[in-house]
Amino acid sequence: MNFGQIFECDIANGEGCRTSLFVSGCTHHCRECFNPETWNFDFGEPYTDKTEEFIIESLRSDYIRGLSILGGEPMEPENQPVVRQLVERVKSEVPKADIWIYSGYTIEELLDEGNTRCHTEDTLPILQKTDILVDGEFVLEKKNIMLKFRGSSNQRIIDVPATLQRYGKQRDILVLAEKYMV
Ligand code: SF4
Repeated sequence: MNFGQIFECDIANGEGCRTSLFVSGCTHHCRECFNPETWNFDFGEPYTDKTEEFIIESLRSDYIRGLSILGGEPMEPENQPVVRQLVERVKSEVPKADIWIYSGYTIEELLDEGNTRCHTEDTLPILQKTDILVDGEFVLEKKNIMLKFRGSSNQRIIDVPATLQRYGKQRDILVLAEKYMV
């Protein structure tokens, strides 16, 4: 996996002051994407052990609330093995850090075992370590600059632990994180 940037105190992509990792590669190609250079899986530089150490160490700071992973598309199958490794390490080594993931795939698509475009053996383990998923493609017709933490009104800010808890029981899967849906 390649990545384009790491922000060390990002307040735009999730609650609080966050470390944000912008991974490379995205097949959605939304119209007027804010970051089209990241569509290329070779954009930026290789994600290495050193990169991961840097992220883990940054999260230990008292003033950093958590990690946001965006892009590009963190949930492209090519990126999921590395994202899985990162989120598992974060939850194990810096448990105070919450994890937000931004994906152009909806949570329904990600959880659909028959969906070979985005569901892999790593998908559920990633979601099981994720606190908030901001899901869905950017839709230009639904663009709204007043929205918090998302670009268009179709995108949803999902409480992933609560959603996964309900998913197995009744497939009434969607639990919005209401406090962010303003
Ligand atoms: S999913 Fe995000 S990075 Fe990918 S094309 Fe859409 S807006 Fe751009």
